[in-house]
Amino acid sequence: MNSLDDAPNPHFVLIPFMAQGHTIPMIDMAHLLAKHGAMVSFITTPVNAARIQSTIDRARELNIPIRFVPLRLPCAEVGLPDGCENVDEILEKDQVMKMTDAYSMLHKPLVLYLQEQSVPPSCIVSDLCQPWTGDVARELGIPRLMFNGFCAFASLCRYLIHQDKIFENVADGDELVILPGFPHHLEVSKARSPGNFNSPGFEKFSAKILDEERRADSVVTNSFYELEPLYVDSYQKRIGKRVWTIGPMFLFNSDTSTIADRGAKASVNQKYCMEWLDSMKRGSVLYVSFGSMARTVVSQLEEIAMGLEDSKRPFLWVIKSDNKPSETDKLFLPEGFEERTRGRGLIIQGWAPQALILSHPSVGGFVTHCGWNSTIEGVSAGLPMITWPHCAEQFLNEELIVNVLKVGLAVGVQSITNRTMKPDEVSIVKRDQIERAVVELMGKETGPEERRARAKELKEKARKAIDEGSSYNNVMQLIEYISSRGTRTDVQ
Ligand code: UDP
Repeated sequence: MNSLDDAPNPHFVLIPFMAQGHTIPMIDMAHLLAKHGAMVSFITTPVNAARIQSTIDRARELNIPIRFVPLRLPCAEVGLPDGCENVDEILEKDQVMKMTDAYSMLHKPLVLYLQEQSVPPSCIVSDLCQPWTGDVARELGIPRLMFNGFCAFASLCRYLIHQDKIFENVADGDELVILPGFPHHLEVSKARSPGNFNSPGFEKFSAKILDEERRADSVVTNSFYELEPLYVDSYQKRIGKRVWTIGPMFLFNSDTSTIADRGAKASVNQKYCMEWLDSMKRGSVLYVSFGSMARTVVSQLEEIAMGLEDSKRPFLWVIKSDNKPSETDKLFLPEGFEERTRGRGLIIQGWAPQALILSHPSVGGFVTHCGWNSTIEGVSAGLPMITWPHCAEQFLNEELIVNVLKVGLAVGVQSITNRTMKPDEVSIVKRDQIERAVVELMGKETGPEERRARAKELKEKARKAIDEGSSYNNVMQLIEYISSRGTRTDVQ
């Protein structure tokens, strides 16, 4: 691997959207590209850089050619509180627009920064939600590749939904509409589909996303071809540009310390957590977590607690609740729950080293909100899943997991839940639904064994894709493709 002083070419500039589910895969991408000979600049902001300080320190320690570049975000200028630099800090809808405005104001400082570098940038790879970066790329005379954090299945759905405006005359959010142009019969509803920022006030931003998506050189995704070949091919054909499937990106990284701290420092002592898992029977533990953004209301926490207790199965439950002002406050769980499940239950309140936990041999199942990163991490660990989508494209991912890949079992969620909803607006999944799903997933009847076998097959395919197969080849081709286009100084 090249060091920073012995700078390799080409030079990739990565610009994530500042939400954990978007930043984490781009941190993985930075390591992946650097490992295969590229130089990487990773654009961030001071608050976001502080959150990933251990990743930054570790990259420096291992002499990995990634430059983390914190640019000051002009929060005050757009009316955001100082330090409000990540979407998970936001609880009011109108602040999202302010944040996207603040990010687009990084245009000038970014251009200036990149123009000063001794190794000129060769391309920008930026999140779909950072469309202003298309103008930066054009100003610098380099291609912009769009990072799409969805899988190809959901990306194709999203593309068809928005390009063909299929919900334009649909008043009832729950009405099922056949998705025209999809490779097979699929019915989707407006309420359970990704929104593309289409609420009032977001019109310009949403149009810019679609426009820059059309103008992007190509698309990069954290999926692998063998997982969803039909949808990768169809998505590629429909958008008329190359889709680089280079995932599961985190599997390229064998440094456990980087994997453990992806996104944030864990709220649990890692050694304690791993020893607890070591003490459990192989494949016996159910891991329960709803990603980085979802906050679980008290009444739902109680139902989950009782469902897990009634299932009598071991569990590791990560709780991000809205019932406490800080991470250190006591959670409201049913009276005596922790005593009654002592020995077979571990609760992590806050941030868990998820990718490490999922790959532990004692973990045998995953209750997931179907965020794409969690899904691909579950697939990479060979785990069958209980699907519990909350919002965004998660209901589409549920469809992929349960009905296409057939490695999941739906807990039975009908309506969306998001963090700006009031507790009485959230529709609650009941304890007996949860208990039934857990017993079925972790049980031993014919169905679950087949599901488990399919999950194991996918794990092997994922490993193969990154070791010697499609994702490995795509990364190498991507680096070569960017090299062959030349850097800015070459094209002038
Ligand atoms: N994650 C983690 N620890 C946590 C919660 C989440 O490491 O306590 C990671 C998880 O492994 C995944 C990402 O955060 O990589 C969440 O992304 P996902 O797309 O699953 O969901 P989102 O948070 O965007 O809803």
